[in-house]
Amino acid sequence: MSIRVLEHTPAGLRRAVEALGERGYRADQIIDWVYAKACSDPQKMTNLPDALAGHITVLTSHVVARAASRDGTVKLLLELGDGERVECVGIPARQRVTACVSTQAGCAQGCTFCATGLDGLQRNLTAGEILEQVLNLTDAGGRRVTNVVFMGAGEPLANYDATVSAVRALIDSERFGISARSVTVSTVGLPGAIRRLAGEDLPITLAISLHAPNDALRRELMPAAPPLDDVLAAAATFYARRKREVTLEYVLLAGVNDSTLCAKGLARLAKRLRCNVNLIRYNPVAGVAYARPSEAAARAFLARLRRQGVNAHLRRSRGRDADAACGQLRRRPASHRQRT
Ligand code: SAH
Ligand code: SF4
Repeated sequence: MSIRVLEHTPAGLRRAVEALGERGYRADQIIDWVYAKACSDPQKMTNLPDALAGHITVLTSHVVARAASRDGTVKLLLELGDGERVECVGIPARQRVTACVSTQAGCAQGCTFCATGLDGLQRNLTAGEILEQVLNLTDAGGRRVTNVVFMGAGEPLANYDATVSAVRALIDSERFGISARSVTVSTVGLPGAIRRLAGEDLPITLAISLHAPNDALRRELMPAAPPLDDVLAAAATFYARRKREVTLEYVLLAGVNDSTLCAKGLARLAKRLRCNVNLIRYNPVAGVAYARPSEAAARAFLARLRRQGVNAHLRRSRGRDADAACGQLRRRPASHRQRT
């Protein structure tokens, strides 16, 4: 029986190691290799007995394609143990390296503009499968990951337990040691799960994908997403419990949700709670009929929000030439991918 290291807390790993008849301190050695030394090959963990090294697994996935962008962004397509494929992206900046991770293979939400939503849900990822994306990106980029955003494929709060276990591992000083403030979970806004998350002792950032100022347009773009009133009420609970400002994400789709009227509607919603609005210009997806607005149109939308007193920002697109938008590398024909 193999021990999957990333699925365990340090205490759980100690128990698993002892169940194999080994001494508990061996778990500390494994933890040191995996998290402090960023070594994921058990055969290179030179102070472990061979028998134990043969019984542990760190990575269950391998890189099947990678795409690098001129700005340093690296996108990996990983194949999991059962052949499912997920993407993750590493985005370096001067002081930080942000990992964008997937929580599901596919997604059941079916948002009409999203490449991941086109094929439906294949399955949930385990906590370890979420975490190994961070290790693969560390390896590919050669730098430690400082920030993690749950903005890859899948709806994190529809895979609640694995998402929360992964977040706990990321902010655990014995494991990844990332500051909770540098971890962002993005959701379409599942009110029950947001309330549950508000009750966990996790001072992370919650990002809610709004994308529309009214329910009619929101249903058109995000057919499975709950009504705005319920989502915003749950977001207010999150703020009240955690005292962390919520981020509202709004993907600008040319001629669909970027009108003056939409800006006014969005400002009205945003002013109901303590939040920041993040505007993102749409990254076009092959076979999907939405278009990316011009930079000038996006700036005009931003200015309208700010004039109404909303704290808003226009997010810079990173890695556009690396197919960095959600789900796009996975959908690209294999012949167009850069082999590793
Ligand atoms: N399922 C979660 C998290 C993953 S998607 C969610 O929807 O929030 C992360 C963000 O990327 C969401 O705000 C989503 O709407 C946005 N997104 C998806 N496809 C996009 C595209 N082609 N261009 C720009 N943003 C996109
Ligand atoms: Fe799923 Fe998010 Fe894509 Fe919607 S935008 S289909 S919720 S991954």
